Amino acid sequence: MIKDILDIKVTRAVESKLPQVDWENLPFGKVFSDHMLVMDYKDGAWQTPEVLPFTNLSLHPAVSVIHYGQSIFEGLKANRTESGDIFLFRPDMNGRRLQESCERMCMPEIPVDLFVECTRKLVEVDQNWIPNKKGYSLYIRPIIFATDEYIGIRPSETYKFMIFTCPVGAYYSEPVNVKIEEYYTRAAAGGVGRAKTAGNYAASLYPAKLAQEQGYHQLIWTDASTHEYIEESGTMNIMFQIGGKLITPSEDSDTILRGITKRSVIELVQSWGIEVEERKVSVKEIVEAARSGKLEDAFGIGTAATIAHIAKMGYRDEVFHLKPLEERPISNSIKETLNDIKLGIKPDTLNWCLKV
Ligand SMILES: *Cc1c(COP(=O)(O)O)cnc(C)c1O
Repeated sequence: MIKDILDIKVTRAVESKLPQVDWENLPFGKVFSDHMLVMDYKDGAWQTPEVLPFTNLSLHPAVSVIHYGQSIFEGLKANRTESGDIFLFRPDMNGRRLQESCERMCMPEIPVDLFVECTRKLVEVDQNWIPNKKGYSLYIRPIIFATDEYIGIRPSETYKFMIFTCPVGAYYSEPVNVKIEEYYTRAAAGGVGRAKTAGNYAASLYPAKLAQEQGYHQLIWTDASTHEYIEESGTMNIMFQIGGKLITPSEDSDTILRGITKRSVIELVQSWGIEVEERKVSVKEIVEAARSGKLEDAFGIGTAATIAHIAKMGYRDEVFHLKPLEERPISNSIKETLNDIKLGIKPDTLNWCLKV
């Protein structure tokens, strides 16, 4: 275990910002903990990571990330259990996915155990920032970006890996309204949809804005070449329930982000004996099920919200209102069970949580 061989140097903040936090009005992603972890890549190797007081960066205007977008990120959470332990949820999976994003974006990979130890160390240092309130947690944001001061186009030779954290409340408290998008595209085959890379999110802002002007929160993305198959919901994976079975788009194509929450949901419900189909999911199938009242449930899945129930689904001129939340027992149980495992309330039988 790398923890035994690597003792990450910590420089503590002189004064904590904790007393300034208004826990009753905690905006998502705008409050930052006292420290950050930094590790530079140069001369062909990752250098020694360090925990430093959280502060601004100073960047050369030609730094290549700004111009050509070699930039990737991850997202995970730390929770405090009732007995006071701190749990990270499957951080090794984030480490592996960060490596996959690195490969696609020509960036140098970080060993998974080093990634996990960096995350663990930072959370340990800022453990007082993990909120003690129900539904609240510490959101952890690892990033890697290109830092060459050069405006030529080629993979950068220097990078910065950083992790910082934000205490957050519950993400989507209300069920969401989504529109099935048939023109704009999130990811095309052969593109970068499977990588958690910055440009994917920049490209989705405009179509999402148009949908918001029509009263929707998010889009349901369809495949770029035919728009006949469903891929994701906003920045979450998506799952449907028809005839007691759960159905979700398969990850065979490189257009779908491989969600850790989704993988966990699949493993969990299979352990309950519920059938999950990972396959192509056509718009036609979902719309017909919705028209005939056979669509039992539809929800987004991701770290931020765990489960985001879909209340209303728009398709061309039609609007489908899905069942009230209390009539969605499977997704409610999934949400409750996953949250309880993260909080140490239910036993972690699948060995997902890492104690900090
Ligand atoms: C991060 C992300 C997800 C969800 O992944 P989790 O690991 O479950 O948080 C799904 N889709 C997109 C596009 C994402 O960026």
